[in-house]
Amino acid sequence: MKKIKRIIVTQSAQNYPKTIEIVTRAKNTFQINDIIYLQNEHPKFPNGYSKQQEFEYMKETLVLTTRKSTPFVTTFASPGNIVENIGSMLTLNWHCAFNCQFCYLIGSSYQRPWQEAYVNIDEMERQILLEQFVHPSILTVWSLVSEFQKSTFVKIPENLKETGDWIRERFIKLNIDSDEKAIKFINDNFTNIFTNHMCIDPFDDGLKK
Ligand code: SF4
Repeated sequence: MKKIKRIIVTQSAQNYPKTIEIVTRAKNTFQINDIIYLQNEHPKFPNGYSKQQEFEYMKETLVLTTRKSTPFVTTFASPGNIVENIGSMLTLNWHCAFNCQFCYLIGSSYQRPWQEAYVNIDEMERQILLEQFVHPSILTVWSLVSEFQKSTFVKIPENLKETGDWIRERFIKLNIDSDEKAIKFINDNFTNIFTNHMCIDPFDDGLKK
């Protein structure tokens, strides 16, 4: 495991209590005093570093930031889309503090090259609470697809993960926080969900809404 030598705090993270707590503990307990406060959301490597040096620098740096564009919770459809393994996954951070040479995450550092910890945990807690209505709604869509197509799926149906991510984003935006609201959402968006997102015709079999 690489020892963290510095912390970078992006602009959006600077006023969160969790940021202050982490920085204080890093200074007092681990004697990390190299704290860099950015005026934007984009950490940069020192000029002239090779890719290997950038990788080492990344492993020695913790970036405190906020999770913005993607929800903390996502639907995890396992490799192979095996039915039993569909679940809700919580993402608290990006990348890993360890440094195993065989790690598959090395590839992911090309698209997002920093070890990030998210500090907007108030939003994370809200999304966890909403997930109790999101996940059953996704399973409901799956059951209905099975019913429409008169088929028992041994694999997660095509487009279900993407449809689930869309449903989750809508639930977060609209603050759908009860079974009644979730049922109403599925009803109100019935055609959109099945025709546009799942790309099936729910009425093809003579079934009506
Ligand atoms: S294999 Fe990768 S993700 Fe797993 S501990 Fe090692 S560096 Fe971290």
